[in-house]
Amino acid sequence: MERSVIRLIHCQKDIFCFSVPEECPSCGEELRGSRLQEAPVSLPSPFTNGHKSSCCLLVAPAHDNQNREFDGTSDLHTGISNTKGVVFNYTQDGVRRDQSGWERCVSVPLVRPDTFHLLAQWDQYMDRFSDAPTWDPAWHRFDKDDHNCFSFCLRYVNSVLAAEGRSALTRETFTHSFILPRMKRVSKYTTVYQHIQRHQYYVVDRQEDVTTSVGQ
Ligand SMILES: [Zn+2]
Repeated sequence: MERSVIRLIHCQKDIFCFSVPEECPSCGEELRGSRLQEAPVSLPSPFTNGHKSSCCLLVAPAHDNQNREFDGTSDLHTGISNTKGVVFNYTQDGVRRDQSGWERCVSVPLVRPDTFHLLAQWDQYMDRFSDAPTWDPAWHRFDKDDHNCFSFCLRYVNSVLAAEGRSALTRETFTHSFILPRMKRVSKYTTVYQHIQRHQYYVVDRQEDVTTSVGQ
């Protein structure tokens, strides 16, 4: 379903495509056997399978967005995975524990792989946290601005930080340092991807920063 994006460099251009063309789409020179400045590289997709990434904050398009594409404007839905790839996410009906549906999302690791004590307790933390009355629709109403999926994730992250003796993150810090940089990458990648789908190539003047930020 998803093809991988390849980048090659020719005549001072970055050329993004799904397969290496016979001729350079920019200057027309034959590419086969010719001197490419560097071997073509494939760009890593910014998307991951949320059910295969444990202890991550996950960002996905909202459930009512059927085509599940990030177009930069669709509402985002956030959740947190446990060590078994179950995604806990807060909705109007309370906390859902999804075993599927988060196959294509952006993940933000929340735990360093060497913090064994935290990993060992993660699933228990998640269960206990999710069972609190705050997230029970009978006790507390969902609010799309103030008490939503993101509040759930942020409160969870902060409760883990508190248990670790570390200070809490504000909504702004959390958004700006963890979510926005990744969403920017997604949006760049999506732009390039859709352009290739429509026009076969995406060609830009070679600029170190553009290439690296798309490719990271
Ligand atoms: Zn060329």
